Amino acid sequence: MAEEQAGSLLGEIEGELRPLGIAVNLAHWEASTTGTAEAQEKATAAEARLRKFLSSKSRYQRIVELLHSLEIHDLLVRRQLELLALDHRPNLLPESVIDDLVRRSNEIQAEFYTFRARLDGREITNNEIIEVLRGERDAARRKAAWEASKQIAHRVAEPLLELVARRNEAARSLGYRDFYAMQLQLHEIDEAELLCIFAQLKRRTDEPFRAAKAEIDRRLAKRYRTRPEILRPWHYEDPFFQEPPLSEELGLARHFRGRDLVMIADRFFARIALPLRDVLDRSDLYERAGKDQHAYCVNIDREGDVRILCNLRDDERWMGTLLHELGHAAYEKFLPRTLPWILRQPAHIAITEAIAMFMDRLTYDIDWLEAAAEARPDDRAGLQRRAVATVRFEMLLLVRWVLVMTYFERELYGNPGRDDLHRLWWDLVEALQQVRRPQNRDAPDWAAKIHLAVAPVYYHNYLLGELIASQLRAAIRKDVLDGADPRGYVGRADLGRFLRDRIFAYGASQHWQALLQDATGSRLDPEPFIAEFVPTPFAG
Ligand SMILES: [Zn+2]
Repeated sequence: MAEEQAGSLLGEIEGELRPLGIAVNLAHWEASTTGTAEAQEKATAAEARLRKFLSSKSRYQRIVELLHSLEIHDLLVRRQLELLALDHRPNLLPESVIDDLVRRSNEIQAEFYTFRARLDGREITNNEIIEVLRGERDAARRKAAWEASKQIAHRVAEPLLELVARRNEAARSLGYRDFYAMQLQLHEIDEAELLCIFAQLKRRTDEPFRAAKAEIDRRLAKRYRTRPEILRPWHYEDPFFQEPPLSEELGLARHFRGRDLVMIADRFFARIALPLRDVLDRSDLYERAGKDQHAYCVNIDREGDVRILCNLRDDERWMGTLLHELGHAAYEKFLPRTLPWILRQPAHIAITEAIAMFMDRLTYDIDWLEAAAEARPDDRAGLQRRAVATVRFEMLLLVRWVLVMTYFERELYGNPGRDDLHRLWWDLVEALQQVRRPQNRDAPDWAAKIHLAVAPVYYHNYLLGELIASQLRAAIRKDVLDGADPRGYVGRADLGRFLRDRIFAYGASQHWQALLQDATGSRLDPEPFIAEFVPTPFAG
């Protein structure tokens, strides 16, 4: 009886959710590819319609009652009800509140899509800012470009703080401590476990990061003919010091200059039995005015219309990003159509990030460079040594940077009234990334990070994704390669089969920790990541 009722309720909900979800995805795609106000309005309206559909208290009650019924034995039915309950819970709000939250978030998003910073009296794109921070030797010019990268913050800081207050208000009205705690619970992440693992990672990386960072600073100081203690945020290549500097010393960009990144990626995925030609054909890959300058992947209809957005340039950064987005796309495309529509999605954001990151890392794999990208490095051993060191530092830096974002955002929601947020940001950056704050700067630099507005309480997923990517790598080494050299996985159809059979096949039909346990032999575990990237303090 209950199982029958559940079946018809699920059918009913799916019938309504499906077109609403497609409309949201299409509208966001249009908004991010055109940047027009009209498209933006359509996106806002579509999202509000979806959230209002999920705001029905009576439907939520029926779902919860069915979940409590002991008569439902079908695990796929139970899982669909669980996910729907999680989808409804944050939306059990008055319509006016939903409208307000969606509108505020989308207004800030539109600002990020269309805002172009100004430098020397002319507009400059994100890619151009990064170019200056990569190549320019003059500190004053670097400083000006870095400051330009923060101009957006002045536009969005105030509206963002207002949005934070309203998100908290809504979360508290639903019985949560604050919006941060609510988001973690809705995404099936145990906050205590997360903070415990992050604290452990901080401890394990403190000394290796200090040592590696000191070495980087010595080399940067030499390049800029100054002393390490003079270095400021603009001496590093990434505006947030998210990525390691000195990428030109690594010499990877050379291997991608003038190359067709799309063809390289297309061929690689085809040869690991995850063909994505159709995805690439549907995608929006190159820079254009008005277009979102970031990158993402979207599954429009869960029926095969998967697309990615990029702003490709022929360098290793965009090679990595392209592989990353195509990793997401492979997961989405190869979710079996036989799964119920509600379960036809990745098990968790952190799992799809892990797949994307597994692919992204190949950019630094010399075997992959040679076999997939047909690079012919003159000094192979030297390049390999530098690439390993770069990735190590990149991962140490990622740990520290995600901690900055996580601790800052948790505090932003936990204590939004504090009037020293600018200082808190730089305190965290100095303590964790060990980058000295600019003198006499009192600006909302934190607000220049788009995620705080557009993808709130999301950032931990990037670190969880890397931890899981290492878990997957270890499992693939053991179960697929049987200890053999992966050779960049080129032509390894068994890699694609492993991912399809152990991960993609299940969609969201079980909790991500259970999926991980089944696929790799253990729940979330930072040890494979530590073993792969964090040098032990005694080994020098
Ligand atoms: Zn991603």
